[in-house]
Amino acid sequence: MDKMLSVWKTVPKEGLELKDAPVPKIKDDQVLIKVKATSICGTDVHIYNWDEWAQNRVGKNIPYIFGHEVSGEVVEAGKNAKGVAIGDHVSAETHISCGYCYQCKTGNEHICQNVKILGVDTQGTFAEYVALPCRNAWVNDKKLPHWVATVQEPLGNAVHTVFDGEITGKTVAIFGMGPIGVCAVGVCKAAGAEKIIAIDTHPSRLKFAKDFGADVIIQDGSPEAQAKVQKQIMDETNGLGTDVFLEFAGSPAAMKNGLATLKAGGRASILGIFPKPFEMDVTNDIVFKGIRIGGITGRKMFDTWYKTKSLLPKIGLERLITHRFRLSEVEKGFDVLKRKKGMKVVLEP
Ligand SMILES: [Zn+2]
Ligand SMILES: [Zn+2]
Repeated sequence: MDKMLSVWKTVPKEGLELKDAPVPKIKDDQVLIKVKATSICGTDVHIYNWDEWAQNRVGKNIPYIFGHEVSGEVVEAGKNAKGVAIGDHVSAETHISCGYCYQCKTGNEHICQNVKILGVDTQGTFAEYVALPCRNAWVNDKKLPHWVATVQEPLGNAVHTVFDGEITGKTVAIFGMGPIGVCAVGVCKAAGAEKIIAIDTHPSRLKFAKDFGADVIIQDGSPEAQAKVQKQIMDETNGLGTDVFLEFAGSPAAMKNGLATLKAGGRASILGIFPKPFEMDVTNDIVFKGIRIGGITGRKMFDTWYKTKSLLPKIGLERLITHRFRLSEVEKGFDVLKRKKGMKVVLEP
């Protein structure tokens, strides 16, 4: 056991490189994980495509192994590794925090000033083995299949967003039915939301939303459809608007429609990444409506993971996984996602 297959970003242009690399050597506080399943995230697609975000964010890190969503088995533990043992099945909390900055010391490790992201700032999970600080290893139930457990990381993003405020008994509009948005639908359903309205431009994605429990689906996209989105949401809420607006689309139009249809005193939680700054009617859509608006990143460490663990069996997460490939077939996985033909793609070394 000294060489492993791994997926690298080696050159600053579109694509990836599959190659043999040495199995990582662990530090005293780390564990070595034998990767059983690793899923492809939107972040990985950015890195593959080498768009502007990727160039700015990981340009200085190449060559390196990318990928961060994982489930595997602990095969080696450093002498100071605690809370996790050889043989445990684990997933990774991908935010590797410093433990000593202001945020870390005040219960906000997920927004640590010195955070390193697995597979972005460190060697990642698109490999047969990955080294991880023991603190970041989340122990899974052994009954949970690896190919499902790997998708807990994006599910955790959805859980964090949904539980940023009250949800039980609330009407909620969810914009953007990528994997995290669809997970949010399932989480809202499991948490007892009164009515779930899912909005996206792709009919195939809205089908997933329906499957995961959306009560109403609205297709937006064309300029004509755009104009109707607000009216449909108001009609579905008896003209009152929603209690909760969740944004996963990263779209100015979604932001506008979501805020315009949010009840006065409502809650907006935003996880979507917007490509560039845009104009908003802060006075009318935020201030005079007295709404609460919050940004969401990562997962609360580790409060979100406990919630995710108990919600996981209730939402049928395996239905989100549309494709499974060998690690050596990684190009096929990216191809599926680039052509928007799949929801979640899992690679199994
Ligand atoms: Zn991810
Ligand atoms: Zn910190």
